[in-house]
Amino acid sequence: MFYYEILSKTMLTRRWFLAAPALAAQPKFAWPSGKSCAISLSWDDARLSQVDAGIPFLNKHGVKGTFYILPRNWEKRLDGWRAAAKQGHELAHHSNSHPCSINFGFTRTNGLEDYTIARLEADIEAATAQFQNSFGFKPVSFAYPCGQKYVGRGAATRSYVPVIAEHFESGRGYLDEAANNPEVCDLANLMGIGLDNISFADMKRHADTARKENRWLIFAGHEMGSTGNQTTNLDALAELIEYAKNPANGIWLDTVAEVAKYIKGKRA
Ligand SMILES: [Zn+2]
Repeated sequence: MFYYEILSKTMLTRRWFLAAPALAAQPKFAWPSGKSCAISLSWDDARLSQVDAGIPFLNKHGVKGTFYILPRNWEKRLDGWRAAAKQGHELAHHSNSHPCSINFGFTRTNGLEDYTIARLEADIEAATAQFQNSFGFKPVSFAYPCGQKYVGRGAATRSYVPVIAEHFESGRGYLDEAANNPEVCDLANLMGIGLDNISFADMKRHADTARKENRWLIFAGHEMGSTGNQTTNLDALAELIEYAKNPANGIWLDTVAEVAKYIKGKRA
Protein backbone atom coordinates (compact mmCIF):
# COMPACT_ATOMS: atom_id res chain seq x y z
CA MET A 1 0.00 0.00 0.00
CA PHE A 2 2.77 2.37 1.03
CA TYR A 3 4.67 1.75 -2.22
CA TYR A 4 1.57 2.33 -4.26
CA GLU A 5 1.14 5.74 -2.62
CA ILE A 6 4.72 6.72 -3.43
CA LEU A 7 4.30 5.49 -6.97
CA SER A 8 1.07 7.41 -7.44
CA LYS A 9 2.60 10.63 -6.02
CA THR A 10 5.58 10.26 -8.36
CA MET A 11 3.26 9.88 -11.32
CA LEU A 12 1.32 12.98 -10.33
CA THR A 13 4.56 14.96 -10.02
CA ARG A 14 5.74 13.67 -13.39
CA ARG A 15 2.45 14.62 -14.96
CA TRP A 16 2.87 18.16 -13.61
CA PHE A 17 6.36 18.40 -15.08
CA LEU A 18 5.07 17.14 -18.43
CA ALA A 19 2.30 19.73 -18.41
CA ALA A 20 4.57 22.67 -17.57
CA PRO A 21 6.44 22.92 -20.91
CA ALA A 22 3.11 22.84 -22.76
CA LEU A 23 1.97 25.93 -20.82
CA ALA A 24 5.25 27.73 -21.46
CA ALA A 25 4.96 27.01 -25.18
CA GLN A 26 1.60 28.81 -25.56
CA PRO A 27 1.73 31.03 -28.65
CA LYS A 28 2.47 34.70 -28.00
CA PHE A 29 0.05 37.40 -29.10
CA ALA A 30 0.90 38.04 -32.76
CA TRP A 31 1.80 41.70 -33.10
CA PRO A 32 2.27 42.89 -36.72
CA SER A 33 5.51 41.92 -38.51
CA GLY A 34 6.59 39.69 -35.64
CA LYS A 35 7.03 42.62 -33.21
CA SER A 36 7.37 41.91 -29.49
CA CYS A 37 5.11 44.66 -28.15
CA ALA A 38 3.21 47.84 -28.98
CA ILE A 39 3.81 51.31 -27.52
CA SER A 40 1.46 54.28 -27.84
CA LEU A 41 2.46 57.80 -26.84
CA SER A 42 -0.40 59.95 -25.57
CA TRP A 43 -0.92 63.35 -24.01
CA ASP A 44 -3.97 64.91 -22.37
CA ASP A 45 -5.85 68.21 -22.14
CA ALA A 46 -4.62 69.94 -25.37
CA ARG A 47 -2.03 71.88 -23.35
CA LEU A 48 -0.49 74.68 -25.44
CA SER A 49 3.01 73.14 -25.27
CA GLN A 50 1.68 70.11 -27.16
CA VAL A 51 0.85 72.14 -30.27
CA ASP A 52 3.66 74.65 -29.87
CA ALA A 53 6.52 72.22 -29.12
CA GLY A 54 5.35 68.61 -28.94
CA ILE A 55 3.75 68.09 -32.33
CA PRO A 56 6.63 69.74 -34.27
CA PHE A 57 8.98 67.50 -32.24
CA LEU A 58 7.00 64.33 -33.11
CA ASN A 59 6.83 65.39 -36.77
CA LYS A 60 10.61 65.84 -36.84
CA HIS A 61 10.97 62.28 -35.53
CA GLY A 62 8.29 60.85 -37.85
CA VAL A 63 6.14 59.60 -34.95
CA LYS A 64 2.36 59.82 -34.49
CA GLY A 65 0.92 60.62 -31.08
CA THR A 66 -2.56 60.36 -29.55
CA PHE A 67 -3.87 63.60 -28.06
CA TYR A 68 -6.89 63.52 -25.76
CA ILE A 69 -8.03 67.09 -26.14
CA LEU A 70 -10.39 69.42 -24.26
CA PRO A 71 -12.63 71.92 -26.08
CA ARG A 72 -11.65 74.91 -23.94
CA ASN A 73 -7.99 74.33 -24.81
CA TRP A 74 -8.15 73.17 -28.44
CA GLU A 75 -10.04 76.35 -29.29
CA LYS A 76 -6.90 78.36 -28.42
CA ARG A 77 -4.93 76.59 -31.20
CA LEU A 78 -7.66 75.35 -33.55
CA ASP A 79 -5.56 75.66 -36.72
CA GLY A 80 -2.66 73.86 -35.05
CA TRP A 81 -4.88 70.95 -33.99
CA ARG A 82 -6.46 70.72 -37.44
CA ALA A 83 -2.98 70.56 -38.95
CA ALA A 84 -1.98 67.86 -36.44
CA ALA A 85 -4.93 65.72 -37.52
CA LYS A 86 -3.90 66.13 -41.18
CA GLN A 87 -0.34 65.11 -40.25
CA GLY A 88 -1.68 61.79 -38.95
CA HIS A 89 -1.77 62.39 -35.19
CA GLU A 90 -4.80 61.01 -33.44
CA LEU A 91 -7.14 63.58 -31.92
CA ALA A 92 -9.17 61.94 -29.17
CA HIS A 93 -11.78 62.70 -26.51
CA HIS A 94 -11.18 63.82 -22.92
CA SER A 95 -14.70 64.97 -21.89
CA ASN A 96 -16.02 68.52 -21.99
CA SER A 97 -15.58 69.84 -18.45
CA HIS A 98 -12.85 67.44 -17.19
CA PRO A 99 -14.72 66.12 -14.12
CA CYS A 100 -12.45 64.51 -11.50
CA SER A 101 -12.57 63.69 -7.80
CA ILE A 102 -13.93 66.53 -5.71
CA ASN A 103 -10.64 66.51 -3.78
CA PHE A 104 -8.89 68.52 -6.49
CA GLY A 105 -9.15 72.29 -6.10
CA PHE A 106 -10.29 72.70 -9.71
CA THR A 107 -13.28 70.35 -9.30
CA ARG A 108 -15.02 71.74 -6.23
CA THR A 109 -18.10 72.49 -8.35
CA ASN A 110 -17.44 69.72 -10.89
CA GLY A 111 -16.59 66.71 -8.73
CA LEU A 112 -17.38 63.18 -9.90
CA GLU A 113 -18.88 62.58 -6.44
CA ASP A 114 -21.71 64.95 -7.40
CA TYR A 115 -22.28 63.43 -10.84
CA THR A 116 -24.88 60.98 -12.12
CA ILE A 117 -24.33 58.74 -15.14
CA ALA A 118 -26.79 60.93 -17.11
CA ARG A 119 -24.86 64.13 -16.29
CA LEU A 120 -21.60 62.44 -17.18
CA GLU A 121 -22.96 61.21 -20.50
CA ALA A 122 -24.28 64.70 -21.32
CA ASP A 123 -20.80 66.12 -20.65
CA ILE A 124 -19.26 63.55 -23.04
CA GLU A 125 -21.85 64.20 -25.74
CA ALA A 126 -21.38 67.98 -25.52
CA ALA A 127 -17.65 67.57 -26.26
CA THR A 128 -18.34 65.10 -29.07
CA ALA A 129 -20.61 67.64 -30.78
CA GLN A 130 -17.97 70.38 -30.45
CA PHE A 131 -15.30 67.99 -31.70
CA GLN A 132 -17.30 67.15 -34.82
CA ASN A 133 -17.90 70.85 -35.40
CA SER A 134 -14.23 71.70 -35.12
CA PHE A 135 -12.68 68.71 -36.90
CA GLY A 136 -15.42 67.12 -39.03
CA PHE A 137 -15.06 63.58 -37.65
CA LYS A 138 -15.93 61.63 -34.51
CA PRO A 139 -13.18 60.66 -32.05
CA VAL A 140 -12.81 56.93 -31.35
CA SER A 141 -10.57 56.98 -28.27
CA PHE A 142 -11.26 58.41 -24.79
CA ALA A 143 -9.05 59.14 -21.78
CA TYR A 144 -10.67 59.28 -18.33
CA PRO A 145 -9.92 62.72 -16.81
CA CYS A 146 -7.50 62.15 -13.89
CA GLY A 147 -7.83 58.43 -14.72
CA GLN A 148 -11.02 58.32 -12.60
CA LYS A 149 -13.92 56.18 -13.77
CA TYR A 150 -16.78 56.61 -11.30
CA VAL A 151 -19.69 58.90 -10.47
CA GLY A 152 -21.41 59.37 -7.11
CA ARG A 153 -20.22 58.45 -3.66
CA GLY A 154 -20.35 55.62 -1.16
CA ALA A 155 -22.90 52.87 -1.78
CA ALA A 156 -24.36 54.89 -4.68
CA THR A 157 -21.04 55.04 -6.60
CA ARG A 158 -21.29 53.78 -10.18
CA SER A 159 -18.62 53.02 -12.76
CA TYR A 160 -18.89 55.04 -15.96
CA VAL A 161 -16.79 52.56 -17.94
CA PRO A 162 -20.02 51.23 -19.59
CA VAL A 163 -20.72 54.74 -21.00
CA ILE A 164 -17.27 54.85 -22.54
CA ALA A 165 -17.63 51.30 -23.90
CA GLU A 166 -20.82 52.42 -25.64
CA HIS A 167 -19.43 55.62 -27.19
CA PHE A 168 -15.78 54.78 -27.97
CA GLU A 169 -13.44 52.07 -29.25
CA SER A 170 -11.22 52.49 -26.18
CA GLY A 171 -10.87 54.22 -22.80
CA ARG A 172 -7.47 54.93 -21.18
CA GLY A 173 -6.66 55.37 -17.48
CA TYR A 174 -3.78 57.27 -15.90
CA LEU A 175 -0.96 56.55 -13.43
CA ASP A 176 -1.54 52.82 -13.62
CA GLU A 177 1.21 50.34 -12.85
CA ALA A 178 1.41 48.00 -15.82
CA ALA A 179 1.01 47.69 -19.56
CA ASN A 180 -2.02 46.04 -21.16
CA ASN A 181 -2.25 42.36 -22.01
CA PRO A 182 -3.58 42.29 -25.61
CA GLU A 183 -5.00 38.78 -25.15
CA VAL A 184 -7.41 39.73 -22.38
CA CYS A 185 -7.50 43.51 -21.77
CA ASP A 186 -10.78 45.45 -21.70
CA LEU A 187 -10.39 48.08 -24.41
CA ALA A 188 -12.78 50.38 -22.48
CA ASN A 189 -10.58 50.16 -19.39
CA LEU A 190 -6.97 50.36 -20.57
CA MET A 191 -4.10 51.15 -18.25
CA GLY A 192 -1.93 54.22 -18.88
CA ILE A 193 1.60 54.72 -17.52
CA GLY A 194 2.74 58.23 -16.56
CA LEU A 195 5.23 59.77 -19.01
CA ASP A 196 5.79 63.12 -17.26
CA ASN A 197 8.97 63.94 -15.34
CA ILE A 198 10.60 60.56 -15.89
CA SER A 199 14.00 59.79 -17.40
CA PHE A 200 14.79 57.73 -20.50
CA ALA A 201 15.99 54.96 -18.15
CA ASP A 202 12.50 54.79 -16.61
CA MET A 203 10.82 54.89 -20.03
CA LYS A 204 13.11 52.08 -21.23
CA ARG A 205 12.38 49.99 -18.14
CA HIS A 206 8.65 50.10 -18.96
CA ALA A 207 9.36 49.39 -22.64
CA ASP A 208 11.59 46.42 -21.84
CA THR A 209 8.93 44.89 -19.57
CA ALA A 210 6.38 45.29 -22.37
CA ARG A 211 8.80 43.66 -24.84
CA LYS A 212 9.43 40.75 -22.51
CA GLU A 213 5.74 40.25 -21.72
CA ASN A 214 4.41 40.88 -25.24
CA ARG A 215 2.23 43.79 -24.05
CA TRP A 216 0.72 47.09 -25.14
CA LEU A 217 2.30 49.95 -23.23
CA ILE A 218 0.39 53.24 -23.31
CA PHE A 219 2.30 56.23 -22.02
CA ALA A 220 0.27 59.25 -20.84
CA GLY A 221 1.65 62.76 -20.36
CA HIS A 222 0.66 66.43 -20.25
CA GLU A 223 3.04 69.30 -21.07
CA MET A 224 5.81 68.66 -23.62
CA GLY A 225 9.11 70.46 -23.03
CA SER A 226 12.21 70.33 -20.87
CA THR A 227 11.29 70.98 -17.24
CA GLY A 228 8.27 71.88 -15.14
CA ASN A 229 5.29 70.28 -13.50
CA GLN A 230 3.57 67.47 -15.47
CA THR A 231 6.05 67.74 -18.33
CA THR A 232 7.25 65.04 -20.69
CA ASN A 233 10.95 65.66 -21.19
CA LEU A 234 11.53 65.82 -24.96
CA ASP A 235 15.22 64.84 -24.73
CA ALA A 236 14.26 61.65 -22.88
CA LEU A 237 11.43 61.08 -25.35
CA ALA A 238 13.85 61.42 -28.29
CA GLU A 239 15.92 58.59 -26.77
CA LEU A 240 12.80 56.46 -26.32
CA ILE A 241 11.78 57.05 -29.94
CA GLU A 242 15.25 56.08 -31.16
CA TYR A 243 15.06 52.92 -29.02
CA ALA A 244 11.58 52.09 -30.33
CA LYS A 245 12.64 52.59 -33.94
CA ASN A 246 15.59 50.23 -33.69
CA PRO A 247 14.28 47.11 -35.50
CA ALA A 248 16.30 44.89 -33.14
CA ASN A 249 14.01 45.94 -30.26
CA GLY A 250 10.79 44.71 -31.94
CA ILE A 251 8.58 47.63 -30.90
CA TRP A 252 5.45 48.69 -32.81
CA LEU A 253 5.03 52.40 -32.14
CA ASP A 254 1.57 53.66 -33.15
CA THR A 255 -1.48 55.57 -31.99
CA VAL A 256 -3.99 54.20 -29.48
CA ALA A 257 -6.66 53.99 -32.22
CA GLU A 258 -4.42 51.91 -34.52
CA VAL A 259 -3.35 49.45 -31.82
CA ALA A 260 -6.90 49.10 -30.46
CA LYS A 261 -8.17 48.45 -34.00
CA TYR A 262 -5.52 45.77 -34.49
CA ILE A 263 -6.39 44.01 -31.20
CA LYS A 264 -10.10 44.16 -32.02
CA GLY A 265 -9.37 42.64 -35.43
CA LYS A 266 -7.47 39.75 -33.84
CA ARG A 267 -10.46 39.04 -31.58
CA ALA A 268 -13.05 39.12 -34.37
ZN1 LIG B 1 -6.80 65.64 -18.24
